[in-house]
Amino acid sequence: MFDTDMLIGGAFAAGREAGERVLNPKTEDLLIDLPEASAQQVDEAVGAAEKAFASWSTTTPAERSGLLLKLADAIERDAESFAALEALNCGKPRIKVLNDEIPAIVDCFRFFAGAVRTMQAPAAGEYLAGHTSMIRRDPIGVVASIAPWNYPLMMAAWKLAPALAGGNTVVLKPSEQTPLTTLKLARLIADIFPAGVVNVVVGRGETVGSALINHPKVAMVSLTGDVATGRKVLTAASKSVKRTHLELGGKAPVIVFDDADLEAVVEGVKVFGFYNAGQDCTAACRIYAGAKIYDNLVAELAAAAKSLRFNDADDDLNDLGPLISARQRSRVSSFVERALEGAHVSVAAGGRQTAGKGFFYEPTVVAGALQSDEIVRREVFGPVVSVTRFGDVDEAVAWANDSDYGLASSVWTRDLARGMRTAARLQYGCTWVNCHFMLVNEMPHGGLKSSGYGKDLSSYALEDYTVARHVMVKMA
Ligand code: NAD
Repeated sequence: MFDTDMLIGGAFAAGREAGERVLNPKTEDLLIDLPEASAQQVDEAVGAAEKAFASWSTTTPAERSGLLLKLADAIERDAESFAALEALNCGKPRIKVLNDEIPAIVDCFRFFAGAVRTMQAPAAGEYLAGHTSMIRRDPIGVVASIAPWNYPLMMAAWKLAPALAGGNTVVLKPSEQTPLTTLKLARLIADIFPAGVVNVVVGRGETVGSALINHPKVAMVSLTGDVATGRKVLTAASKSVKRTHLELGGKAPVIVFDDADLEAVVEGVKVFGFYNAGQDCTAACRIYAGAKIYDNLVAELAAAAKSLRFNDADDDLNDLGPLISARQRSRVSSFVERALEGAHVSVAAGGRQTAGKGFFYEPTVVAGALQSDEIVRREVFGPVVSVTRFGDVDEAVAWANDSDYGLASSVWTRDLARGMRTAARLQYGCTWVNCHFMLVNEMPHGGLKSSGYGKDLSSYALEDYTVARHVMVKMA
């Protein structure tokens, strides 16, 4: 029923270690008990990638581009079944995967197929008399790519496309909770790419992930995941001085000035605070509202959150799905419970998990939160939005920047000059003005501070997955 075999050196093989239970988060049913890779299989995958690197790294950009375009076409042809499988494994509304995620995934491969053919560097020339200098951008080697569970296929695309375009070979490990679309993708990859260029292994972080990040032949580790996991990658990387590329979560501030278009803010937070059940590192979850707009915003946002649909039998009507696991739901639930211990905090909408099967949690608006509250400071990664009242712009900017995270942010105002001035003061990898969450493959995505470093998407990602080398030729 599912593709369950890993791809190692162009051949498919079942994992040899004990199985990991992969659940349907909507029903809590077991989808499959999936055996994970043994240490030897991880080693074989890295070995296959190392062997393939010798020839893959010497292909032309046009050759690599052609294969990436083929993969994009193959995913597009299979969009319906990829969307159904992702929805099954993650609990997301199928229609949202089909309409939002799959086109972005296909476009990601197409973007990097184009970008690799137009890489830029300083002009070659005689910077020292009698010597000609030129810049090469060369691949790094074997990249271990480790993905999270919130957008499994999209994270696979974000990691594979720039790495392969740059001439690297990859060992990709999806999250143990959501491996199914990546294993399906492996089938397409095997038909298109030479053996060993892409290898897919499955298993838990502490076992398979750890074996990968500690492997001496892995030249670079790319992780999207938790800050704690990022620290483990850095510790492992320090042993052999590997390159690292870390996307580690966020707590996006949303500054709403009194003159903002209230309807637009409410619609924006309704969609992008709760998209993917808030399991999104850019989720519009930390609202700072001007004193005059605050009451109306809380009231309208609460109504909007209550209007969101989930757990409807007709999946096409659902705005959001459940959380990924019971563990994640109890984490979210305990954040809200602790927030409510503060007498100044109230729940304007939601605040409960639903009865019955499925790891659902109501879209929740927590009002009256203070800057010092845990709910404002820590990443919840669930359908929970806090609202905090601010006095003036300096306070809003100071509070927005007073965070361990630095991934995404937004500013809402009818005064575009104020929007631009505020955006310039924010310490975030991205600031949207009068919108939120809008990603395009041409523009970089990545964080500051504990959100990590390195860019996904855009030509900046291609730079991260290649190394600039200077070649100097003495002319005399
Ligand atoms: P996680 O860190 O637990 O897991 C991510 C991946 O790392 C999984 O494949 C996991 O198996 C692996 N892993 C875990 N421990 C490991 C170890 N010791 N060695 C090697 N690999 C290990 O995170 P998660 O719970 O899957 O994902 C949620 C987190 O990811 C959130 O904190 C979220 O903010 C973050 N995230 C960030 C971005 C971004 O672009 N910045 C995007 C999506 C998710």
